[in-house]
Amino acid sequence: MKASLRQGYRQVIVIAERCKECGFCIEFCPKHILYKSAEINSHEYHPVCVHDSDKCTGCNICSMICPDFAIYVNFVEVKPKEEAG
Ligand code: SF4
Ligand code: SF4
Repeated sequence: MKASLRQGYRQVIVIAERCKECGFCIEFCPKHILYKSAEINSHEYHPVCVHDSDKCTGCNICSMICPDFAIYVNFVEVKPKEEAG
């Protein structure tokens, strides 16, 4: 039986150019898997990156709390690669 996408992997997507480094998502992620990246976007902010996305529950708190619509979660069938931060 094919598993539904909700039972698949969670892929946290950060639109780095939108991130203003406010830290709300970092503060409120219940799994503490969001961090400021070492990289700098064109507005000179350190965008958020994800460590250990296996721990993401897909709760969507990060996307609901982000004032800049810079982060959201996809449900995917194939395990996503970790992005370096
Ligand atoms: S969906 Fe929830 S657990 Fe996953 S990164 Fe966002 S706040 Fe954290
Ligand atoms: S809440 Fe949005 S703008 Fe703030 S740090 Fe997270 S992704 Fe960046």
